[in-house]
Amino acid sequence: MAKRDFYEILGVAKNASEDDIKKAYRKLAMKYHPDRNPDNKEAEEKFKEVKEAYEMLTNPEKREAYDRYGHAGVDPNMGGGGGFGAGGFGDAFGDIFGDIFGGGRGRGGGGPQVYRGADLRYNLEITLEQAAHGYETTIRVPSWDKCDTCHGSGAKPGTQPVTCTTCSGHGQVRMQQGFFSIQQTCPKCHGSGKIIPEPCAACGGAGRIKRNKTLEVKIPAGIDNGMRIRSTGNGEPGTNGGPSGDLYVEIHIKPHPVFQREGDDLHCEMPISFAKAALGGEIEVPTLTGKVSFTVPEGTQTGKTFRLKGKGVKGVRSGYTGDLFCHVVVETPVKLTDKQKDLLREFERSTSEGGAKHSPQSKGWMDKVKDFFE
Ligand SMILES: [Zn+2]
Ligand SMILES: [Zn+2]
Repeated sequence: MAKRDFYEILGVAKNASEDDIKKAYRKLAMKYHPDRNPDNKEAEEKFKEVKEAYEMLTNPEKREAYDRYGHAGVDPNMGGGGGFGAGGFGDAFGDIFGDIFGGGRGRGGGGPQVYRGADLRYNLEITLEQAAHGYETTIRVPSWDKCDTCHGSGAKPGTQPVTCTTCSGHGQVRMQQGFFSIQQTCPKCHGSGKIIPEPCAACGGAGRIKRNKTLEVKIPAGIDNGMRIRSTGNGEPGTNGGPSGDLYVEIHIKPHPVFQREGDDLHCEMPISFAKAALGGEIEVPTLTGKVSFTVPEGTQTGKTFRLKGKGVKGVRSGYTGDLFCHVVVETPVKLTDKQKDLLREFERSTSEGGAKHSPQSKGWMDKVKDFFE
């Protein structure tokens, strides 16, 4: 199945601001949230799609890559749950950068090519609470040890690597192209200057063996979706003695059943009974640090937003604590008994006698309808 356009999924224009994207996301995330659509596969798929589009388009690097290369620019195989993806676009340019910057060789100098190891990415899923309060965990990441069998040479025990005849051990060859003399990585030995006639069986000639190691990760309080923590030197090892790459732990925050996060602010829906909305009164509101009491004023309408200052998330970069926005949803009572229905009919008669003053929104709406037909 063809992947849909991220902008189309969120229903925003190509030049939409980050704010517009966030707004569109929040609306759709609320609509398709799995908690609000239990056992609805279609809603679940939609929710995933919306989340992916949001994550891509709010990450400036990914958005740029997507705008330039489409879905291919933001390889979906690298996203999702746990797991690794090495490199990304940089890999394709490894040779070019290697030839220009590699190894710090002088002009016309010899010696094998030195490459820095690839960076690795680890996708770590955490909860909103863990992100807000900070979290320590351990992750299993690949590591490379020197091969015991060949002691790192890559050659079968009893044999030796031999000097590459194509480049005479320089790791690079010169090619004449018009006026220019171009130095290139030797195609035969790939820059190492050596050829292994009989590779070590244990490591396949690589000289090292992949294992796993456990790393401790400290996630600072306030971290947000898509942020990355760098662990220097824990990526893939370099080639020919080059430095290791880095490991990036990328944070993915799981959808929360109650809160949607937007920067350092939190949003939640707050259903209240229509009697409470009409009469006003105290309600309990959940926050990340427990429930708080809150007084709803008389005549509260659905859609009204209350802002609880300082009840959001303390941002890891901003150091500022966001607010909690509670969006009121007035609930229509269901499964009424005959008696309750009678009471409501009586109530309805009594408010009709009072006229439009009891229904400010209907009054405004009726006026608009009248203007429309005139
Ligand atoms: Zn070996
Ligand atoms: Zn060579």
